[in-house]
Amino acid sequence: MGNEDEIIEAMFGLGRYLGYPDCCIREFWDFEKLASNAYKQALFTDERQVAQSHPRIYLSGYIPCNACFRAYTDEELVERIEQNRKHPEPFPQYEHPRYESPGERW
Ligand SMILES: [Zn+2]
Repeated sequence: MGNEDEIIEAMFGLGRYLGYPDCCIREFWDFEKLASNAYKQALFTDERQVAQSHPRIYLSGYIPCNACFRAYTDEELVERIEQNRKHPEPFPQYEHPRYESPGERW
């Protein structure tokens, strides 16, 4: 049990270092909730749509919890992370040139 506590502590430590909200870290750690996570479901259903509606968090590694995904725009999600981020580098900014001309890849 102590071991699991240590893992959870490490998860929160890393998540907070990256600037992720506690609610998202907690939900990420809950396998049942993660299985029905709205953001992941959206990726499965229509990845292209997610890439276009959430270009900044798409591929960033951040998985917003259900509540945050529904409540905030892509920009707002990143803004919240950047405000709390301790990591010296800013939240990753990926270029997705392939999504600017849909149809090319899809
Ligand atoms: Zn959240």
